[in-house]
Amino acid sequence: MRIPVSKPDLRGREAEYAADAVRSTWISSTGPFLDRFEREWAQACGAKHALGVCNGTAALHLALLGLDVRPGDEVLVPGLTYVAVANAVRYVGGVPVFVDVDRQTWCIDPKLVEAAITPLTRGIIAVHSYGHPADMDAINRLAAVHGLWVVEDAAEAHGACYRDRVVGGLSRVGVTSFYGNKILSAGEGGAVMTSDDQLAVRLRVLRGQGVDPDRRYYFPVVGHNFRMTNVAAAILCAQLERFDQILRDRRRVFARYDEHLGRTQPCADWAEIAPWMYCGLLGHRRDHVVDLLRERGIETRPFFYPLHELPPYRGCARGNLPVSVELARSGINLPTYPELPDSVVDEICEIVRRDP
Ligand SMILES: *Cc1c(COP(=O)(O)O)cnc(C)c1O
Repeated sequence: MRIPVSKPDLRGREAEYAADAVRSTWISSTGPFLDRFEREWAQACGAKHALGVCNGTAALHLALLGLDVRPGDEVLVPGLTYVAVANAVRYVGGVPVFVDVDRQTWCIDPKLVEAAITPLTRGIIAVHSYGHPADMDAINRLAAVHGLWVVEDAAEAHGACYRDRVVGGLSRVGVTSFYGNKILSAGEGGAVMTSDDQLAVRLRVLRGQGVDPDRRYYFPVVGHNFRMTNVAAAILCAQLERFDQILRDRRRVFARYDEHLGRTQPCADWAEIAPWMYCGLLGHRRDHVVDLLRERGIETRPFFYPLHELPPYRGCARGNLPVSVELARSGINLPTYPELPDSVVDEICEIVRRDP
C-alpha cells in the first residue's frame, strides 16, 4: 500500500532514547526510562500510579486480575469495540455481556447499562471508542449504585477529555495501549493506571510473576510476565515530549477531512475527541469505497465487527444491538497520521465523494 491507514510519528528523540537504552544495556524490564515513563504517563492521565505493560491486551487482563474477576462473573462491555476487551474478560473466566453503544458517543450506552445488570454482574468496561470519551459520570454513578467497579479503556483516545478532565484516570482502573496504530506508540506497549495505592501494589505483583515485593524469589500468588521493556519506555518518553505536537498534527488531518466530507462522528457537548483514526459513515457504499481506495494504493479499515457476531461471542448480547450493528456496517477509518500530506487527504476525499 502506498498510503497506510496509520503510521507512528517517530520524528523526535525516539531513536536517540532507544539507542541510549541499548548502549546502557538496560534493555530489560527495569531502567530509568521505565521509571520516567510511568511517572509522566500517570501525570498525563491524572492518576496517582501508572504501570507499563507489554501491550494493551495485557493491560486489560492485568486490570481484571487486579479486580479479582472470578469464573462466572459478568462484565458489561460495549457491543462495538476491539475484540481484546472481550477476550480479556474470557482470560479470567468471566462472561462478557455486550451492551449497545450510544448513537451520540459510539461508546457504551449508560441508558442501557442498568437493564443489563444481574446478580452476577461485577463491573463495566467503558471504552473511549474512536477517540470519543464514554459518559464517565453516568457510568461511575450507575456503578456506585450497584456496587460495581469500572475499568476505563483509553487505548483509542490518548489526550481525549471528558468535561475538561483527561481520560485514563476517571475510574477505579484505566488501561491503554501503545500499539503501532495508536496516537502514542512504542510498537507494542500498554499501561494500567489507578489512584488506589493498594490496588497499585497488587497490580505490580501480578505484573511481575507474583513475586513478593518484600521477599525476592518468593511467590505467594500466581502472577504473569506482563512487563514493559526499558527500550519501549524510552520510545514512549520521546513520544510524550511531543504529545501536544502529535495531537496538533493529527487534528490538522481531521480538519482537512472535515472540510471535504463534513464530520460524521458525533461529539457530545462535554467531550473533546482525541484525533485517532478519522471516521466516516458511508452506509451501503462502504465496501465499494474500500475497494476503490485499495485500487489506488490507499489502505482503510472498516469499523469493528459487532462482538456478538464473532464466533466466540455469539449469544453474549442481551437483546440485539442495533446501533453497534449499523455503525459496524457503515463505518470506515481513513488514513490518519501526522506526516499525511494534505494533497493525499484531498485525493482520498475525491474518491470517497465520487458517485457510486
Ligand atoms: C488497541 C486496543 C486494545 C489492545 O491493545 P494491544 O496493545 O493491541 O493489545 C485494547 N482496547 C482497545 C479499545 C484498543 O483499541
